[in-house]
Amino acid sequence: MRLRNVPGSRETIAEDEFALNDLEAQKALKGRWHELFGNDHPVRIEIGMGKGKFILALAGMHPEINYVGIEKYSSVLVRALEKRHSYEGSNLFFLRMEAEEIADIFDEGEVDEIYLNFSDPWPKDRHAKRRLTSKEFWARYDRILKADGRVIFKTDNRSLFDFSLEQVAEAGWKLENVTYDLHHSEYVTGNVMTEYEEKFTAKGNPICRLVAYREH
Ligand code: SAH
Repeated sequence: MRLRNVPGSRETIAEDEFALNDLEAQKALKGRWHELFGNDHPVRIEIGMGKGKFILALAGMHPEINYVGIEKYSSVLVRALEKRHSYEGSNLFFLRMEAEEIADIFDEGEVDEIYLNFSDPWPKDRHAKRRLTSKEFWARYDRILKADGRVIFKTDNRSLFDFSLEQVAEAGWKLENVTYDLHHSEYVTGNVMTEYEEKFTAKGNPICRLVAYREH
């Protein structure tokens, strides 16, 4: 998501009690997320959360789960922070960071579930590694996700979805379920729409979703 630069947004994030902007400070949380949240509840993350509608909704529905929203653009993250300030729960935190660094921020098995919603497609072949569902990213998820954890990916982009299915297999992960039309499938129950999902659904695009896990 590209927005016009919001002047001072990095500084706003740096000063905010609900977000971290600095990579070194983020790395200091590795293995210590329970201290930040003040409990041992499971930690679920959304990578590329955009303006944060999805993760805010989940946090409100599940106070027994801790949520971390990750977004690389400060101009976007400040929009999520604005909403964060009218949410009273203590189970939601944001990181402004590039997802490639994820295994430096979370320890082995420290994450309970990973959400990828409407991730950037990076259509050129030479950028395939940047896709959040490339095999390079599955290797990172393998490190941070607990043994029986799940990665849940939604998109309306069929070619990105087909690529992702191939990469899941290549990375040695399994598919718990797959749908090419989430809103007309049995999996729609309890589905929380993201900002992009609302936009693309209004255009009539079917939403694809996969749930992946590892076998032990
Ligand atoms: N999840 C939201 C936004 C989707 S747009 C929704 O479904 O409505 C994808 C978002 O992911 C953008 O805001 C983009 O800046 C962010 N993003 C893409 N690649 C990223 C990366 N490598 N690290 C962190 N954020 C990323």
